[in-house]
Amino acid sequence: MMRTTNGTSEEAMDGTSGGATAALIELTGVSKIFHTDEIETHALREVNLQIGEGEFLSIAGPSGCGKSTLLSLLGLLDSPTVGEYVLDGSPVSGLSGSQRATIRNRHIGFVFQAFNLIGDLTVFENVELPLTYRGISTAERKERAMKALERVDMPHRINHYPSQLSGGQQQRVAVARAVVGDPLILLADEPTGNLDSSNGEAVMNLLAELHRDGATICMVTHDPRYADFADSTLHLFDGKIVDRRSNGATRELQAHGYEVVTPERTLS
Ligand code: ADP
Ligand code: MG
Repeated sequence: MMRTTNGTSEEAMDGTSGGATAALIELTGVSKIFHTDEIETHALREVNLQIGEGEFLSIAGPSGCGKSTLLSLLGLLDSPTVGEYVLDGSPVSGLSGSQRATIRNRHIGFVFQAFNLIGDLTVFENVELPLTYRGISTAERKERAMKALERVDMPHRINHYPSQLSGGQQQRVAVARAVVGDPLILLADEPTGNLDSSNGEAVMNLLAELHRDGATICMVTHDPRYADFADSTLHLFDGKIVDRRSNGATRELQAHGYEVVTPERTLS
């Protein structure tokens, strides 16, 4: 995740990614339709999205508009019904289940609203777990897990079990688990949704710090205060992207006395 160059900047100068480097993530014409009983749900409709390396994108929109579905597709937990997903220059559509699992394990870090730590493993074991699937030596696993726990300021709780920690502490451990394998991208689905405001802010500061160190982050949040930590905000409504704007530009407009109306407020 802390890569500083992907070596593909030359071929990306055609303007499609809006910058000098190729997009790390590129969705083209992506739709997702769920079929349950007789009902068809169009969770995503013709989504086109590029996320650059090192970018921090937040995703907003009302409940049921497709935010979690979008993260599941980005994280290879699910596949589009139609459309193309190119991750770090490679289309993912032709990959087998085990190739997808390998990419998930090596290149994608997940943080969920409900923390999702494994209750009968210690803090240390939870953080080490993604590395054990990769055949990394015990000594290196220990070193990397401790480093990740230091980053989230939790090295003093390594032998605790998740149930012995506060929600904020559990989420910090979940962030350590997500970044221990040095992923290409960190996906966070309402990471502050179960936290009070001071713990929520601590987790957001942690994500902001990872971002400053070069992490690419894609985060779903309902809270406009936290969306502001990101570089830009994507608004989804009814499975469609209705707006994407840089948070810096929004702050600038507000500083000049303009009221910035989000599509979410306009449409719902
Ligand atoms: P959000 O995260 O924005 O609240 P979701 O992405 O979870 O929204 O859901 C988008 C829509 O797709 C909703 O109507 C939801 O009911 C539907 N949906 C999500 N996952 C499934 C599934 N596995 N099977 C059927 N419908 C689903
Ligand atoms: Mg959701």
